[in-house]
Amino acid sequence: MYKAILFDLDNTLLDYDFSERDAMQRAVEHHRLPEIANFEWDSFRSVFAPINWTYWIERVQRNLTIGDVLYHSFRDTLEQLGHDYRISSTLAKTYWELFCASCHPMEGANELLGKLHGRYRMGIISNGIGEAQRGRLKTGALDHYFDHLFISDEVGYYKPQREIFDTAVRTLGVDHTEVLFVGDSLQDDYHGAAGAGIDFCYYNPLAKRLDESFMPAYMIHSLSELIQMDVQNQWIKRVPLT
Ligand SMILES: [Mg+2]
Repeated sequence: MYKAILFDLDNTLLDYDFSERDAMQRAVEHHRLPEIANFEWDSFRSVFAPINWTYWIERVQRNLTIGDVLYHSFRDTLEQLGHDYRISSTLAKTYWELFCASCHPMEGANELLGKLHGRYRMGIISNGIGEAQRGRLKTGALDHYFDHLFISDEVGYYKPQREIFDTAVRTLGVDHTEVLFVGDSLQDDYHGAAGAGIDFCYYNPLAKRLDESFMPAYMIHSLSELIQMDVQNQWIKRVPLT
């Protein structure tokens, strides 16, 4: 049936949220920010997040590198909190190095990849920065499982654009109908796969309610469910609610 299985990376195979928070906490501690009077970690996080998101969204239009995004985000955060922001450049560099070398697999990811490896062509389609995605997979010794990585800043297209899915299918030498794409995002992964005519498996670990307008071929709450479907060769598609 399927000849290739493609995965989203962040919060599907790797715990992005954990890595991001952990790398930032370690960077902040490395530069001894907690020793500054009035420094509060929770405030730092809550101010940083929306600032960083805005720079990240605008980065293509404003032609910003990831280094620029991080530098501006740290600078604006520290300035807004009334702290000395001259440390922003080195703080951004430390954070990025730590993040690129971090790897926290989602529960069941290692076992799943081990079971599928050698039986399917495998790849990643990720919206992100190649240096980070490749570095994190290498840190976790997971990179060898994949024939190809399709990362938006390298491919020049991003999910849900159809082109990044078409590039993956063409490179893997399979037909669209022979590919399963697994991801946790309805916005990027579901719509992208649907637009490209690829079967989508919605990884929904928090069991979020699925609006009836979404009709993924499969929905799983743990990665081990995918192993079961493969082992039993029971690819029984969800019947959409009507
Ligand atoms: Mg994701």
